Amino acid sequence: MRFPLAQTVKIASHIIKHKVSRTPKFAMVLQLEPLHTCNLTCTGCGRIREYSTNLKDMVPLEQCLAAATECDAPMVSICGGEPLIYPKIEELIAGLHAQGRFIYVCTNGVFMRKKMRDYLAAVYSPKLEPQLNRLVQEQLVTEKEAEAIRKADGAAKTKVVIRPNTWMYWNVHVDGLEYTHDLIVEREGVFKECIAAIKMAKILGYQCATNTTVYKETDVQELEDMFKFLSSLEVDGHTISPGYDYDAAKKDMAKRLGRDPKDFFLTRDMTRQKFAKIEDWGQMFTIIGTPVYQEFLAGKRELTCTAWAIPTYNVRGWKAPCYLMTDGHYKGYQEMLREVKWENYGVVDGKARDPRCEHCMVHCGYDPSGALGTNYQSGDNWKNIRYNFGSKPKPIQATPELQTLAYNGVSIGKGHLAEAKAAINSPRAAMNGAQSVFQRNGHHDHDEAGLDTTQRDELLAKVDAVRKSEVNPE
Ligand code: SF4
Ligand code: SF4
Repeated sequence: MRFPLAQTVKIASHIIKHKVSRTPKFAMVLQLEPLHTCNLTCTGCGRIREYSTNLKDMVPLEQCLAAATECDAPMVSICGGEPLIYPKIEELIAGLHAQGRFIYVCTNGVFMRKKMRDYLAAVYSPKLEPQLNRLVQEQLVTEKEAEAIRKADGAAKTKVVIRPNTWMYWNVHVDGLEYTHDLIVEREGVFKECIAAIKMAKILGYQCATNTTVYKETDVQELEDMFKFLSSLEVDGHTISPGYDYDAAKKDMAKRLGRDPKDFFLTRDMTRQKFAKIEDWGQMFTIIGTPVYQEFLAGKRELTCTAWAIPTYNVRGWKAPCYLMTDGHYKGYQEMLREVKWENYGVVDGKARDPRCEHCMVHCGYDPSGALGTNYQSGDNWKNIRYNFGSKPKPIQATPELQTLAYNGVSIGKGHLAEAKAAINSPRAAMNGAQSVFQRNGHHDHDEAGLDTTQRDELLAKVDAVRKSEVNPE
């Protein structure tokens, strides 16, 4: 089967229950944002910009669980911000399991290996040695970390941890192969860390999916190569969605990066071009999403937005009308369903009911439409059943060529900061003090995952200063 039977049955019975009781609007997936703090600053991320004043705020654990109970979506996508920074993430996952929900932990991957080491420490016994040795051999865990796992103390043994479970997926953000991904997340080394985390997760028996946002600059062939590479790692599924130009992301792009948002985000026509092969990908790879939504992305049909089916809950309450746009926040999900004028949103017969919806085709607005049968066409149900119950595409064989394709950035000295690093490390730059950006106090600035935390903008500003001083030497 393409997806786990329990998941398919749970979702199907949820839809049938509400259809039978004629519930006009109900939740399919809860986008739960326990916090908006993030360790990255990805280009195009609206979240960390829109809620930039609330980065220290968090939704208390009990409130997160109560929101899931209230909307009763069978699936919860824990996002943010970076959810692995949430101090009670383990308890949140455990609480949602106890409620019988499917959980996607949407992460940028940087702290995943740390969380999996916590798991190993909690459950360690000599029986785990073959797995631990394999992790060390594949350089996914260091000798020192393995020793710490073996010698875990009582506190580590009793800690609530994130365990492999068929009802949970890691959902790792991957926007392209190494060069592109690191450029979009604005930090070198993140792709490598994500892939290491995915490999470790698969060895330990976790389910692992990826989520990809497609921008104007995204190369379609690169996307296909990325899916092949991820398939060779036996990733269990992929969410893919067109990028949406959040107001906050647009403003940030213009101000901080000096870029015109029109050069970055997709129009509807461009989305259809980029997604022309989505149905073929759906056969070759385990693409998460209904075939009806795939037809919509490929430009073969229209759908009506059903944003109420993927509601977002965060520090300010239930966000309306959707994950992307904010016209208000509500205390309760039912209150939001009642109060929002849903008929004012979306695109119908090619006309945007709200100008901000004009180019939107994102999965959180339209994927549920495919499952809920809005704009139903004869044969749709059969298509969805065939897709979900059909056999899972076989993993693609890992080859040296795929490795070479994937690691095309910082691993071979060609990361997006290469030019900046070279300029900064030039003798002229040293004279101008630019090296200090990389060599604060004589060492590189690294975060917990060992990644270079130097910011691209900071570097490029230094490079610019060096260039100007070369043109006009004193
Ligand atoms: S990792 Fe996610 S939340 Fe963090 S900046 Fe990137 S897109 Fe935004
Ligand atoms: S069309 Fe897109 S932007 Fe508009 S309400 Fe629906 S999901 Fe939100």
